[in-house]
Amino acid sequence: LAAAVAGAKAMGFVGFNCTIPHKVAVIPLLDGLGDSAALMGAVNCVVRRGDQWIGENTDGKGFVESLSLRFDPAGKNVVLFGAGGAARAIAVELSLAGISEVTIVNRSEERGSELVKLLTTRVAESVPQSLQARFQQWDGEFQIPTETDLVVNATSIGLYPNINDTLPIVRKSLRGSMFVADVIPNPPETKFIQLAKDCGCEVIDGLEMLVAQGVIGIRHWSGVDADPLIMRQALERVFET
Ligand code: NDP
Repeated sequence: LAAAVAGAKAMGFVGFNCTIPHKVAVIPLLDGLGDSAALMGAVNCVVRRGDQWIGENTDGKGFVESLSLRFDPAGKNVVLFGAGGAARAIAVELSLAGISEVTIVNRSEERGSELVKLLTTRVAESVPQSLQARFQQWDGEFQIPTETDLVVNATSIGLYPNINDTLPIVRKSLRGSMFVADVIPNPPETKFIQLAKDCGCEVIDGLEMLVAQGVIGIRHWSGVDADPLIMRQALERVFET
């Protein structure tokens, strides 16, 4: 990794994306971090600014950017499934975008509680609004509380090739008034998204998030706003949706 980063610098790159297993390991090789990348402790987009190499995290930003076109997160109550890298990025960015409550629902208590600790300490200290975060162990079918505004699947359930897997939730607890988001980009129409549509929920799929983080990366590197529609169409061709 160090040789690759040195190579990018030597060849005058304006930046690069990096993914698992380099999102944390790249940090000591950089000169600084953007605000949310510092809170998450993970970088997926490196940007050259002058002679400085700065680590950003566009996963959560892409999610919030695509969500905010149709749903204002400020003051909202969120149920977030998952506590891995995607969930962490989304939880931090939703908090920075002003949500007031979030329930982290995860199988493993260790990861779930660790994310809640991050949200109730460093993240809560960085946001102006009051932020409540709690952990709920996921064993059996989860009952989504009635007062929930936004439900997010940030687990890998439903990712190709396991396309028939869906979230263990009490079906009737998903109400049409809830906005539903899924991070799975392939296939974008997951069983969970299908269920949400059947319940009358407004939805955004994982392809929107993937495209939006790409648009932000291109903006960081070039100052150009790429057309998300063209990017989505190209991805749909790749995924043959
Ligand atoms: P991680 O491995 O870090 O986390 C996976 C999460 O899924 C954990 O919370 C894990 O729970 C949970 N999980 C996995 N299988 C199950 C199951 N059968 N039942 C319950 N929980 C389960 O992965 P990432 O967070 O990096 O990625 C998660 C998904 O997000 C991937 O599918 C990836 O494709 C997608 N993603 C999409 C992006 C986009 O732009 N659309 C960007 C980044 C990621 P536990 O902790 O208990 O193991």
